[in-house]
Amino acid sequence: MLRVFRPLLALAFIAPLVAAASAADKIRVVATIPDLKALTEEVGGKLVDVDALARGTQNAHELEIRPSLMVKLRRADLLIENGLDLDSWADVAVQGANNPNIVRGAPGRVDVSRGIQVLEVPSIRVDRSMGDVHPLGNPHYSMDPGLAPIITQNIVDALARFAPDHRAELEKNRQAFLARLDEAMARWTRAMEPLRGAKVVVYHPQWIYLLHRFGLVQAATLEDRPGIPASPAHLTRVIRQMKDEQIKLIIVEPWNDVKLANRVAQEAGAKAVVLASMVGGVKGADSYIGAIDHNVNALVTAIR
Ligand SMILES: [Zn+2]
Repeated sequence: MLRVFRPLLALAFIAPLVAAASAADKIRVVATIPDLKALTEEVGGKLVDVDALARGTQNAHELEIRPSLMVKLRRADLLIENGLDLDSWADVAVQGANNPNIVRGAPGRVDVSRGIQVLEVPSIRVDRSMGDVHPLGNPHYSMDPGLAPIITQNIVDALARFAPDHRAELEKNRQAFLARLDEAMARWTRAMEPLRGAKVVVYHPQWIYLLHRFGLVQAATLEDRPGIPASPAHLTRVIRQMKDEQIKLIIVEPWNDVKLANRVAQEAGAKAVVLASMVGGVKGADSYIGAIDHNVNALVTAIR
């Protein structure tokens, strides 16, 4: 009896150890937002274990820093952040995490906005005391598929700095992802072609990179200014403008006031459509390419 059981027992002890060892070998990455988690998983493949602090349905400007976020950061090798003041709340979480790898200035702290040509940079100085949440320009670049090559290059560079032996594999993963993205881009460009020049209203200015990419025009925002709630006087002006310019669509973020957007749309003879402002923002938008697919389809269907 003993002879039979001993090998089994040994296996029972060894198997979990092997699993634990391979998990420990992975580069532990935390991304502030799910878009950057998705892109890190694309280029990191089996080499990474990635978690995100914000969920796709949340307003990435304002995240409540709970102890659970600090726990996620405690053992991270890398923290990947969007920058441009979108996710500066990460500093609070990092302070609570007590992890020197990812403090500002450490090699494990990675800002992937490097190399992005930032849109809507204010020509006058604005800051958060004025309530404006885009003081450094528009920070919502991550869901523009045309910028994914720059973002993924920044991510590969950061991962390869941490694990130099794996640079070739990371670069190979990135090329495979970019090939799939190119294919999808051709499809999106064809689908969006009839919408070129169309004017849309947005709730929060979250969409400027995507709109520019496909030649649509942002005519107005429902917010008075980025992050400042819509005032009745401003909404009256927007409704008049929508009627005058025959604007038929309002884009709303999942975290914003969809009811208000619907009311405004109804008064203006238009419709409101909720797009995924981040990966996971709406049902079916669970991967990077899947989320853009969803947004392109929703836009085409809404404007047709
Ligand atoms: Zn914003």
